[in-house]
Amino acid sequence: MPGRLRLNNKVCIITGGGGGIGLETGLQFAAEGARVLLSDINGTSVAKAAEILRSQFPDAEVDSVKCDVSKEADVKAMVDRAVEKWGRLDVLFNNAGIMHSADDDAINTEEKVWDLTQAINVKGVWYGCKHAVLAMRQNKADEEKGLSAGGSIINVASFVAIMGAATPQLAYTASKGAVLAMTRELAMVHGREGIRFNALCPGPIRTPLLMDYLNTPELLNRRLVHNPMGRFGEAVEQAKAVVFLASDDSSYINGTDFLVDGGLHACYVTAS
Ligand code: NAD
Repeated sequence: MPGRLRLNNKVCIITGGGGGIGLETGLQFAAEGARVLLSDINGTSVAKAAEILRSQFPDAEVDSVKCDVSKEADVKAMVDRAVEKWGRLDVLFNNAGIMHSADDDAINTEEKVWDLTQAINVKGVWYGCKHAVLAMRQNKADEEKGLSAGGSIINVASFVAIMGAATPQLAYTASKGAVLAMTRELAMVHGREGIRFNALCPGPIRTPLLMDYLNTPELLNRRLVHNPMGRFGEAVEQAKAVVFLASDDSSYINGTDFLVDGGLHACYVTAS
């Protein structure tokens, strides 16, 4: 059906929506006709992100809320807000996550860095899944609006959950491995309720933070030499994959480690 909007009428929540992959996904969701609730621990950045969506898509229904995903009461309030406003929840993009600057190897990672990373990256994803499942169980198919029962939950892991990295970030890598394992089990447990779970595994993205850190040709090449495509990814390339996983176009895709990494994970030595 040409011109069909892939998320028309779907109610979608994005955590960590104040910037980066979350904001790009908000823009793609709005472009595809979704009703979008952006949330973030940073209330100022998420309000600004919602303004960006409204200015680019004046007809889109957009809302924003401050939410720390490591606090269950915040996560429940976020889901309740979407359901109270729009009557249902079809998609949750569990995107919020941190990589702490003091994250290190087994010897040098401090317990507080470990605990904070697991609280946001793992417990935050669990809370999101829990409250989204409770909401999605109430969904009824609505053929007129093109809505189905059940829903789609996309949890953000990382390529480092599949591969080890010699640049140590042990708490982060362990947290993303937990997201993969949790996503698989949830996909099995809730598949018959029509609720799909997939884990997005981004490769390294060209963000200001990463580029500021890789600020010499040697540091850059140390990373790029491993990527078959010879470049970093763009946040919008993740966002487009999330639209697919959120939409009914992926209706039989469940429990996957969905790698969007330019082929990094598949590579022993690159072509040149
Ligand atoms: P980002 O830092 O630009 O965005 C993350 C957002 O999460 C920020 O807006 C931040 O305020 C928010 N956030 C942090 N703690 C939070 C909390 N407790 N509750 C709610 N929101 C919180 O990062 P990004 O690059 O857009 O990353 C998004 C996701 O993608 C993360 O889960 C990250 O681990 C993952 N990822 C990123 C890359 C990359 O190269 N950028 C690679 C693999 C995986």
